[in-house]
Amino acid sequence: MKNSIVFLGTGGDSIVVGKQVRASGGIVFKFGDNQFHVDPGPGAIVRAKQFDINPRETTAILVSHNHLHHTAGLNSMISAMTYSGIDKRGVLACDEETLHGSQMEKPAVSNYHKSLVERFIAMKPEMRIGINDVNIVATHAKHTPTSIGFKFYTQNFVVSYTSDTEYSKELIADHKGSDVIIINCKYPLGLRQKGHMNSEDVVKFLEKTKPKLAILTHFGIKMLDADPIYEAREIQKKTKSQVIAAKDGLVVNPVSYTASLKQRKLNSF
Ligand SMILES: [Zn+2]
Ligand SMILES: [Zn+2]
Repeated sequence: MKNSIVFLGTGGDSIVVGKQVRASGGIVFKFGDNQFHVDPGPGAIVRAKQFDINPRETTAILVSHNHLHHTAGLNSMISAMTYSGIDKRGVLACDEETLHGSQMEKPAVSNYHKSLVERFIAMKPEMRIGINDVNIVATHAKHTPTSIGFKFYTQNFVVSYTSDTEYSKELIADHKGSDVIIINCKYPLGLRQKGHMNSEDVVKFLEKTKPKLAILTHFGIKMLDADPIYEAREIQKKTKSQVIAAKDGLVVNPVSYTASLKQRKLNSF
């Protein structure tokens, strides 16, 4: 498939990830000839093999923030992407703390692995980078001091990923105009933790952003107990978007959810 989003994991807390009730390998976006691996968490390289992703074909690795479930596979994915530097290539784009560390934490990427990529960039919210024919904008995320999400602009569609974040006005502004939004929804209705969204927040968020498709992922154990499929259906009833709950290994073709492209096809008849 030329354009696809592949879920190498859908787990979102230490119970779910610790027991691998759901995997935690991140999300791979294949857009044309580009392959972006976002948030390679614990077991990323194993899940890449399981779900037919070749790390040698990775164009860029993107990390939203310096938490273990988003970074544990980072160095091993860089090693696989570059044959440990024999073929120095690829881009690493991530938030400030993952790349440079902070007063509190060391950076997830080692100095050695940083030296294996062709270029590395620390991204702040609203910063834009171009990788081949895809533009990537860092979105706001209220989670860690340097957390970001990502919005991908391709010629035919716009896809974005909220990462871990609270509901906020900035979040709405940043994700407006996306055809497909991937949302880290750790909690079901009625349960809430600072720095995360639950099903109720997702309803508010979708009422404002109105994507064609919303994909829920990054489930905590309480969300799994409540059943993400049920939660997705309830959210869909209250919004105008199609809402699905991701499963490990799920593959979505974003082109099917692109309004502009459908319109263009209709016009040509
Ligand atoms: Zn986090
Ligand atoms: Zn997380």
